[in-house]
Amino acid sequence: MSTPSASGVLELHDHEEGDVERREFLGAGAAAAAGLFAGTRHSLAASPDNSGHEYRRAVELLERAPLIDGHNDVVWQYRQRTGNRLDGIDLRRDTSRLDPPMHTDVPRLRRGRVGGQFWSVYVPTDLTGPEATKAQLEQLDTARRMIDRYDEFEFATTADQVERAAERGRIASMLGVEGGHVLDNSPAVLRMCYEAGARYLTLTHDSTHDWADSATDEPRHGGLSEFGRAVVSEMNWLGMLVDLSHVHPRTMHDALDASEAPVIFSHSSARGVTDHPRNVPDDVLDRVADNGGVVMVTFVPSYVTDRAPATAADVADHVDHIRDRVGAEHIGIGADYDGITETPRGLEDVSAYPTLFAELLRRGYGDEELQHIAGRNVLRAMRGVEDVSARLREKREASDAKFEDFAPAAPTAGRAAS
Ligand SMILES: [Zn+2]
Repeated sequence: MSTPSASGVLELHDHEEGDVERREFLGAGAAAAAGLFAGTRHSLAASPDNSGHEYRRAVELLERAPLIDGHNDVVWQYRQRTGNRLDGIDLRRDTSRLDPPMHTDVPRLRRGRVGGQFWSVYVPTDLTGPEATKAQLEQLDTARRMIDRYDEFEFATTADQVERAAERGRIASMLGVEGGHVLDNSPAVLRMCYEAGARYLTLTHDSTHDWADSATDEPRHGGLSEFGRAVVSEMNWLGMLVDLSHVHPRTMHDALDASEAPVIFSHSSARGVTDHPRNVPDDVLDRVADNGGVVMVTFVPSYVTDRAPATAADVADHVDHIRDRVGAEHIGIGADYDGITETPRGLEDVSAYPTLFAELLRRGYGDEELQHIAGRNVLRAMRGVEDVSARLREKREASDAKFEDFAPAAPTAGRAAS
């Protein structure tokens, strides 16, 4: 997963097998031929949605309430393309001209009115044990250096810092660790990821590991193991958002039981619209509402619709569904740019967020609702986590517990035998 495939096409990480195959079939050349990218900025001009009244209103709205996206994989692109050498990708230039094209650069983030970004510091699950932890440190380092390099970015770890950066016209830059396997079962690693600046941990990636079941693998724990629940408690203590994208529905429920603080889905859509295991089931949506959490709707085409091509309207259907079910105060945006090669029509890169908001304006959303969806909801969740952390830190120290202290998984789980 971390090297180009035999066909020379990058296999990005965020998909089911079928999607990987589809991406390989499409390839960069075919994607260009299909008009997804052609090495120029024509993608915006080609979109039907960017000239009208609603588009201008959407831009104005996002200038007042900057967009905070939950998941972008540009840091992974550095690892794949340059071995984490920052000189190899200049984010001030048009990275859609690279081969294969990228979705993210500073000029397009500006056009997209992005005011805050959780940069994913992703490590694939084919790395395990200390090797995964080393790669995690390297990705955290790359993200921190990338944020330092560009004056347009400002490192942020709290909701207040995000707002201050946005007020200064900077893109607030937060870090999210994607995949609990990188902890190598060590709460110490979790705490040091927090110290390095990570403010969410996605409990699993595409594979079940020693303490949590993934949505796209065989479950072994019936959700979270006892140690997994302790990880959630320690995240509450630290002040880290629990990210439930990628996890099994039973893990979602267990984490909602265990967490005292709001949870997020950094890049997932609604299963009530598209029955994909990476999406959020309705009964979980109901609990996210009670929890004060946020589902950051993703643009991954196969999560957004069963049909091809996916469109901005399909993404808006997921926003509609979550609003109808639990209200707009539990919706955010987590596109997964540069973690995918295919994108919905109209949402081709990070400049496209106003197109989605124009679609939502056409559907009758009010300014207040849209400002909450753009970023205020996730800021509220961050503040909730910060408050819980402050309370817990008054009551106790960091936990002394270790993985070995917890009962092994049930015999059927396989871990005991391995
Ligand atoms: Zn992902």
